[in-house]
Parts: sequence; C-alpha cells; structure tokens
Amino acid sequence: MKIIFFSAQPYDKAFFNRFNDSVGFELVYHKSQLNEQTAGLVDRAEAVCVFVNDKVTALVCQQLADKGVKVIALRCAGFNNVDLEAAKKLGLKVCRVPAYSPEAVAEHALALIMTLNRKTHKAYNRVREQNFALNGLLGFNLHGKCVGVIGTGNIGQAFCRMMIGLGCQVKAFDLIANKDLEAMGVSYHPLTEILQTDIISLHCPLNEQTKHLINDTTIGMMKDGVMLINTSRGGLVDTKAAIQGLKAGRIGYLGIDVYEQEEHLFFRDLSGEVIQDDEIQRLMSFPNVLITAHQAFFTDEALSQIATTTLNNVDQLLKNGILTNRAALLV
Ligand code: NAD
Repeated sequence: MKIIFFSAQPYDKAFFNRFNDSVGFELVYHKSQLNEQTAGLVDRAEAVCVFVNDKVTALVCQQLADKGVKVIALRCAGFNNVDLEAAKKLGLKVCRVPAYSPEAVAEHALALIMTLNRKTHKAYNRVREQNFALNGLLGFNLHGKCVGVIGTGNIGQAFCRMMIGLGCQVKAFDLIANKDLEAMGVSYHPLTEILQTDIISLHCPLNEQTKHLINDTTIGMMKDGVMLINTSRGGLVDTKAAIQGLKAGRIGYLGIDVYEQEEHLFFRDLSGEVIQDDEIQRLMSFPNVLITAHQAFFTDEALSQIATTTLNNVDQLLKNGILTNRAALLV
C-alpha cells in the first residue's frame, strides 16, 4: 500500500521512514504543495498525506477520489485547509493528528513571550559586536502579570499550566470550561475581559467563527501596550489591523509563528528572492515584532508522534475503516 506525501521536507522523510517499519507502506515524497494543479502527481496510491498549507478543495477531493485514493491523512492537528463536506460526499476518509506533544507549541509560545520581553535576540547580536550596553533591552517581570488565553484545548491547557508555573494570573476564554484548569486557578471570562489582559495568546482553531477574531474592533478593546502571541493559525489575526495597532502603539509586542498569507512564504528558503508580500515586510520592519515560520511544532518528540500517529491512522483506516483514536477521524 502506498502513501503519497505533499509539501514533504527532508525532516518529514527522515521521521516517516524511521517509523514505517511496523506498517511497511511504500512512501513517496513530493516537495510540491497539493492543489488542483498538482493532484495529478497521485499515481496508484491508497492514501495521500498533507500538511497545513496543502489545499484540499472540493475539486482536489474529486481528483483524489478519481485516482482511487481512500484516505487523506493530515500530519497536523488543524484541518481548516480541507473541504470535509466534499470528502465525505465522495466517501474519502480524512484523519489528523489531534494531539502531538502540545507542550511543543505551548513552549514555543512561551519562547516568543520571553524573547519579545527580554529581547535576547537583540542582546545576542549586540554582544557579538562587543556592544555590552543595556539601553533598549528593558523588560518586565512575567510574575504577577495577567495572561489571557483564547482556546484551552490541548495546547492552550499546556500553555496555561506553564504560565501558572511562572506566577501569572491566567484568564481564559473557550466555548467549554476545563474543570482541571479551573481547579489550578485559571478563571473563564467573556472575550471582552480577555482582551484587557497584559499578554494574549491564541490557541483556538481557525474556522468561520474565529476568522479575524483579532481585528480593528478587538484590538481597540485591548490594553495599551498589550503583548499578542499567535501560534495557532494566521487567519485568526487581521494582518492589516495588527499593523495599524502596532503603528498606533496599541499593540506593544507581537509574536507570531503563523501568518495569514504564509502559504506563499513559509517552509522554504526565499533569501535570494524579492518578496512581493508587503504586509510581511511591514511586520518585519517593527522592532517589537518577532516572527517565526510555523516552527512551534518542530521538536523531535512532536515529529516522532506525528509520524507514528499518521502511519497508524492510515493503517487502521485502510485495514478496518475505523480508528481507535476517535478524535483523529474527521470524516
Ligand atoms: P484543540 O482542538 O485541542 O483545542 C482547541 C480549543 O479551542 C478547544 O478547547 C475549543 O473548544 C476551543 N475553541 C473552538 N472554537 C473556539 C472559539 N470560537 N473561541 C474560543 N475557543 C474556541 O486544539 P489544539 O491541539 O490545542 O490546537 C489549537 C490550534 O493550534 C490548532 O487548531 C492549530 O491551528 C494550531 N497548531 C499550531 C501549531 C504550530 O506549529 N504553530 C501546531 C499545532 C497546532
């Protein structure tokens, strides 16, 4: 049985090959993104394996079904890039990795906060140039600050625990309150109250309700100088509004691992190219913005779990049509 990978990077190949022994699939890797133009690369395969920026539209689902594909396996948690209704109508099974080392992403959110606050990225460069002055590097204590967490699922929970451990007050907004977190001291509030906290971290999925959750209006309700962290999905933040918020000084710090138009930029080396995206260039020009290129998941532990869970998902779906891990099956 064959799985065809799209948007495959050398590290995908290394981890999937390492864990394939137990299931013994034929694994074929393509660097290209899956979209309506590249679906033709699928040749006699039972499954395709896709990542965050592959475009699994209704037409792509049809193209895959026509080629005899039975399973679309996402090697990530989010699934906003797949037309699930179309897949369902065509009888395609779609699975994902619902939880893989949530600490990997939560720790990266914390790394963004720590770096923006204590400016270690700037200090590193300064000291290398024998500039030992401290002017401009002033930070603040995290201890005692109020942190707002939007979405307390797997990653949001891990993040809340870390912030409680650092002595922060943690306020959360989610559709469902988590009793364990409440027992630890996390309190749930309406979104308007979360917008009044010192540091806001986004951990909810991207869907119709959450698209541009951070916009001109919600930025206008934030505390002056707020720190905003997004390790979830770029579409949660209206980039134009964030740029205006930064220019007006309302957003004091912005840390993003995801970006609305990232599919044209991230996961590739464009150092020799002229970037056409003016918004990312503007964001990069602010001294109080830190951007990483969707690397929050990128730990050895997370990649191992992604590979084993994905291979197991495909194996179970192709053999039995069901998954023991219910949260992994989308349709
Ligand atoms: P999860 O499904 O465990 O948790 C999501 C939480 O958001 C749930 O508790 C849900 O109730 C809540 N939620 C849903 N709609 C909401 C709304 N309108 N307002 C507030 N809360 C809402 O997901 P997770 O594993 O914690 O992952 C969260 C997100 O992180 C994913 O959707 C994915 O987009 C992103 N992610 C990013 C990376 C990365 O490398 N940057 C890696 C993995 C996941």
